[in-house]
Amino acid sequence: MSEQKKVVLSGVRPTGPQHLGNYVGALRNWLKLQAVYRCFYAIVDWHALSSEYMNSKPIKDNTLEVALDWLGVGLDPTKCVMFVQSEVKEHAELHLILSMVTPLPWLERVPTYKEMQQELQDKDLNTYGFLGYPVLQAADIVIYKADFVPVGEDQAAHVELTREIVRRFNRIFGPVFSEPQTLLTEVPRLAGTDGRKMSKSFGNSILIKDPPEIIREKVMPMVTDTRRMRRSDPGEPNDCPVFTLHRAFVPKEKQDEAARGCRTAGIGCRECKAIMLEYLLRTLEPIQERRREYEKDPGRVWAILEEGNRKARRAAQATMAEVRAALGF
Ligand code: SF4
Repeated sequence: MSEQKKVVLSGVRPTGPQHLGNYVGALRNWLKLQAVYRCFYAIVDWHALSSEYMNSKPIKDNTLEVALDWLGVGLDPTKCVMFVQSEVKEHAELHLILSMVTPLPWLERVPTYKEMQQELQDKDLNTYGFLGYPVLQAADIVIYKADFVPVGEDQAAHVELTREIVRRFNRIFGPVFSEPQTLLTEVPRLAGTDGRKMSKSFGNSILIKDPPEIIREKVMPMVTDTRRMRRSDPGEPNDCPVFTLHRAFVPKEKQDEAARGCRTAGIGCRECKAIMLEYLLRTLEPIQERRREYEKDPGRVWAILEEGNRKARRAAQATMAEVRAALGF
């Protein structure tokens, strides 16, 4: 009999289509993971609700957009479980139970709590749901008894909190859960069109689904190293937002060539951007082609998600039976 595969859990908030930062920081890695582990990839619509509760209607459309992006990049429903969080109600039940044992100060000290409140200042995040976000996240992870959670360093604190909640739950009710480990992934910093980190909330994203002409329109005016005021001024690629895209999409020897050209003023920024664009568009072409095929048949995409929901439900229900027994319910 084949050895039981280790379980991986990760998720995305459906607040809009996925951008290149999501692709480079998560999806590209998920593709590798699906070949090795039993992966549960969740579209976490309840998490989206924690910041989008005043405008909840687009969440469903965005769920489809995210699924299209996932299928486009090559996530394969025969190799991973792609599902929608709110379709597996057991997440909510476990969230409630975990919230009973989670001390409030643990949540108040989560570093991303204050950061996100700062970042999303146009939203009122002074809510119970937003504070409890990491508890729902803990439920998402442990309900599948995930061994690994792929995260960048900035998210590692959430997994640590999950581990603390697990320890407390097990101490009180008995050993139901094992502690998930972080699968620390290098999340390269990808700059957006304004030079800040690429982020949906900054409105500076290049989307996976953007047509080539839109991508070109977004890239060509991008800010570069400010030392290059004139074509003859040498620059420093390490200080250039465009070069973060080179690192993500351009083969190493071409990158080095462009970097040399930048430092010696051998190439201009337009030329340098054109090199990056060539490789970026080459990467996106098959992805967008696949995405377009699925776009023609949204029913097929919802059916894939529904199949994923069924698989996820089965696993979640088995865990909840154990949890209820441990509680004596
Ligand atoms: S040449 Fe390239 S790396 Fe150098 S500043 Fe211009 S766009 Fe950036």
